[in-house]
Order: sequence, then C-alpha cells, then structure tokens
Amino acid sequence: MNFKHKKKFGQNFLTNQDEVLNKIIEVSSVNANDSILEIGPGEGALTGYLLDIVNDVICVEIDKELEKILLKKYNTRKNFKLIMQDILKVDFDKEISKKVKVVANIPYYITSPIINKLIENRKYVEEIYIMVQKEVAERICSKKGKNRSILTLSVEYFGEAEYLFTIPKEYFTPVPKVDSAFMSIKLYKDNRYLDRVDEKTFFRFVKAAFSNKRKNIVNNLKTLGYSREIIEKNLEKLYLSNNLRAENLSIDNFIDLIILFKNGDV
Ligand code: SAM
Repeated sequence: MNFKHKKKFGQNFLTNQDEVLNKIIEVSSVNANDSILEIGPGEGALTGYLLDIVNDVICVEIDKELEKILLKKYNTRKNFKLIMQDILKVDFDKEISKKVKVVANIPYYITSPIINKLIENRKYVEEIYIMVQKEVAERICSKKGKNRSILTLSVEYFGEAEYLFTIPKEYFTPVPKVDSAFMSIKLYKDNRYLDRVDEKTFFRFVKAAFSNKRKNIVNNLKTLGYSREIIEKNLEKLYLSNNLRAENLSIDNFIDLIILFKNGDV
C-alpha cells in the first residue's frame, strides 16, 4: 500500500534511515527498564528500534490511516501499545499513568504545545528526547545571545535543554523545507526555580522583559509599572548593567531579579 503523506499532520518520515535511527537510540540512552512515550510514530520507523530494546512503547498517533499500518507491523509485540488520539488531548492520568521517557520525531507544527503538555505532565515525564526544526532547537537550547527567547526561558524554568545533533532535511520523506535537530530536555526532579518564584510571576516578568527585543531590559520592565530608578537599583545589586537586553540574562539572573522586585528590596 502506498501511503500519501499529509502536510496538515506534519508528516515527514524517517523511513529506511538506519544511521539516524541508531543515533537517536544511542543518544537517548534507552534501556530495558524504560517505558517510552512516542508521539507521532508515523509508519513506525523509530518504533521498531525502540520495541527491540525497551520494556514498553506507548505510541500516540492522530492519523487514522496509520493505525492499520502500525498494527500490522507491531500488534504481535507484547510491549507495544497504540493510542489513536491527538497528543494534546491525551489525559496522562488516565492513559499514561506511569513514568515515561519521551523519544519521538514529533509533528513540528505543534512543537511548543507538545513541550508545554509534557512539562504540565512532568510527574509522569522524566526525560524528553525529540526531533524538532533546527532553528527551534537552537532557540530552546541557546545559553546566551540573540537566539534566547520566552520559549528558552519557559523550558529552562523546568529543566535543562541540550542540542544533540543535526539532521539534514534530505533524510526525511517527503523532503521538508527545513533541517532538523535532535535535542533533549531533562526535567528537574526538584522544583528549584518554581519554589523560589511562582509560575504566574515568572512568566509575567519574562514576557515583559522580552516584549520589545530591541529595547534594553530597563525599558521593557518599565511596562510592568516599575520606575527606572528601581529597575536600575535592582540590576546594580546583581552586578548587571542597565544596557543589557533580556537575551543576555540567564535563568538565574531572572529568578534573582524577580525576587528583588517581589521583596520590594531596592
Ligand atoms: N516518527 C515518524 C518518523 O520519524 O518516521 C513520523 C514523524 S512525523 C514528523 C510526525 C507524526 O506525528 C506523523 O505520524 C503525524 O501523523 C503525527 N501527528 C501529527 N499531529 C499529531 C497529534 N496532534 N497527535 C499525535 N500525532 C500527531
């Protein structure tokens, strides 16, 4: 049967790409004890590799047409489970309900919603190994400079991201317009940042800091209603210059700064 790839589901498959698939398995350090959540198995190229190694693989796929193909290939494997559903609608408490490691070549059109969903369900998700658009991986994993954005900080607040390797677009069928990258997010087991600054305060502050990328942090934080004088004093306490932009601040800088504002400590 000839499968017709659907653009609307972001279907670019890694069919017959042993080199890339072996590398994914190697860097994700999957082992026999792992339970894997694979989002968007497609025709099951990566799934087969995972099933050979790990305890069990839970696949979540939206495209009904792929159900038959996947069942035909893997239904006899005892460690294979298929959930035909939109990953964004999966109720982790009911349908996953155990610790999983995510290993997947995800649909790129919902990269941020998928990452957010996994972070929300971090009591089940321990480590995330995903293929995403190269530029997006560069932004999420950027440690300093222009690539840093709200997305970078929203991941850093919950875990540590790492750029693992690049996959040129030619490896996919059909060939997409962009290159890809495989990356990891290791979610913190403790709430190291959450315990210091609550989520609502953190995101309000970070969004304001990045509200105008060309402006420096002082001008952007003024939109929160603070005076220039207070902002400059708080920055000075942390030995941070007034000319810095949000992209130059680390997650620790942000947390320390927010705490100074919260305490009214100027
Ligand atoms: N893992 C396969 C591979 O590497 O060959 C396919 C990867 S392809 C980039 C993305 C897959 O995600 C497709 O199979 C697509 O049908 C599926 N998908 C798209 N949107 C989805 C959603 N909301 N929930 C679950 N799966 C989805």
